[in-house]
Parts: sequence; C-alpha cells; structure tokens
Amino acid sequence: MMNTTSFSRFLPGGSHMVNYWVVDRGDELSVQLSARFHAMAERFGMNPDEQNPDIVLSIGGDGTMLHAFHLYKGRLDRTSFVGIHTGRLGFFADWKPDEIERLAQMIRNYPEDANLKIVQYPLVEIGIRTREGTETDLALNEFTLKGVEKMLVAELHINDEKFETFRGDGICISSPSGSTAYNKSLGGSLIHPSLEAIQIAEIASINNRVYRTLGSSIILPKHHHCDIRPQAGQNLLLTLDHLHVQRTDVLSLRLKVAGQKVRFARFRPFPFWTRVREAFIGHGAN
Ligand code: NAD
Repeated sequence: MMNTTSFSRFLPGGSHMVNYWVVDRGDELSVQLSARFHAMAERFGMNPDEQNPDIVLSIGGDGTMLHAFHLYKGRLDRTSFVGIHTGRLGFFADWKPDEIERLAQMIRNYPEDANLKIVQYPLVEIGIRTREGTETDLALNEFTLKGVEKMLVAELHINDEKFETFRGDGICISSPSGSTAYNKSLGGSLIHPSLEAIQIAEIASINNRVYRTLGSSIILPKHHHCDIRPQAGQNLLLTLDHLHVQRTDVLSLRLKVAGQKVRFARFRPFPFWTRVREAFIGHGAN
C-alpha cells in the first residue's frame, strides 16, 4: 500500500518556494525516509503540495514511480519526477537512501539548480474504443492485452492496413523507457528514450499453417499508429503498467506515441546505457 504523507505548510521569507510531494512504497524504510525528507523540506522552506507539486519524489522502487506517475499523469506538463530506491537500483529510482539530504538541497533550488537537467521521455497513448465512445490513457512502461479464459485472437493493423491476425497469450506495447521492463522479458529490443517510438512485442504467439504472425517485435515511430481489433465478445485482460482490468466491451484499441512526455529531474548524469549495464550485466562482468 502506497503512502502519501501530509505535513504542515511552511511560509519562508525567500522569493522562491518549490511545491513538492512525496509518494512512498509504504514499507518501514520508505516511510522513515519520507518523514525525513518532509522534515528537511520544511527546514529548507519547501512547500508540501499534494495537489499541485512541481516535483514528485518517489521513494521505493520502479513500482512506486509507476504509481506516482499514474497519480500525477493529469499534470505532466507541470510536474517532474525523481526517485530514491530503498531496494535495489531501479530504472526510475536512481538515488540511494543516504543521499536524501543532498537531494533535498538540490530540490530546494529547483528549477534553478545548475546541476539540474530535465529529461523528457516518450509515453504510450492508448485509445480504447467501445460502443460508448473512446477512452484514452497513458502508459509509462507498457500496455498489454491478453485473453482471460481463452487465448487472445485479434487483428493487428498498422497505419490502417491489416498486418496480421494474432493468436496467443497477448500483445505488449511499450515505451522506450519501458523497453527494459516486460518488453525485455519478451525478447523485445531496448530503445533509448530519446527516440520517440513504441514497440509491439508478442506474448507467446501461435505459429502454424493456419496462424502466422511476424514473430519479431516491431518498432513504430511517432505519427504511426497500430490498431488491435480483438474477436468480438472476448473477455480481455488489459494492463497499464502495474494496473489491470478485465473487459468484454472493447471493440478496438489504438496505440501510438503520446503527444505528452514524462519529465524526470536529473540532478546528476546517469546515462541510459550505464543504467542498463548496471541492471542487467553488473560491474564485474567482462
Ligand atoms: P514491481 O514493482 O515488482 O516491478 C516488477 C519488476 O519490474 C521489478 O523488478 C521492477 O524493478 C521492474 N521494472 C519496472 N519498470 C521497469 C523499467 N522501466 N525497466 C526495468 N525494470 C523495470 O511490480 P509492479 O509495480 O506491478 O510493476 C509493474 C511492471 O512489472 C510492469 O510495468 C511490467 O513492466 C513489469 N512486469 C514484468 C513482467 C515480466 O518481465 N515477465 C511481467 C509482468 C509485469
């Protein structure tokens, strides 16, 4: 269970006040760190603002950042995210617990700190069409579509042209920053987040003389789109990062690179490929 903690508002005499909020994983260490951060922030004259934060600190792991993203996805143009990991190093959580004071000092000077860089990463936009209309949402890592009792059967169209009929466990559509998550387990490629693209990866497709899919993952650039039309009436499992829902009313889905991006506040350089190496290969590897 995630926690978001409230502390009293502090009114300093300084000219600039950063509005911040903390989302923690709810375990003992994350809760303690969250309280420490709030105490430091009060000393530094920062303003706790759960509704309109300039900066959201996620304390926990990558799952905590996914949770924070979905809490604040309605104000992506006004909020930047930064993560502390209380377990192993994460892709979105790259500060260590013992660096919290340094981080608080840097956030205090946000956005003027000279060391600060805002990086913007592409997202997946999902349009879910039903008889009632179209609902849209955003994924930081990925969206997946799976069958529930039966295998998924769906037509896949790229830029309004039929590409293939898929039969199997499901389809995963990921963002570049999500390419290192579920997509990687599916054999998809890792994409640098400076590339505005989405990746479509198959989840256990059936390939025989009747059903044939490409078998490789596909990378679509910005301004291309993919439509998935599941066989009518199927019970579907839709997942959006850590969230999931079962639905039987989906007529089709449209996936594309979102117009909006997520902003991460980087207070020191941590290149994507270094992150990949540290997560999957390790320091000692040759
Ligand atoms: P969680 O926090 O336990 O995360 C699951 C794992 O995915 C963790 O090890 C986490 O560090 C890692 N992860 C999350 N985002 C990542 C990223 N962008 N790059 C590299 N690793 C990343 O559980 P949760 O909160 O439910 O997380 C949901 C995520 O779990 C989904 O977005 C999906 O990417 C991932 N997932 C992976 C698989 C798989 O690899 N077979 C299956 C289902 C879900």
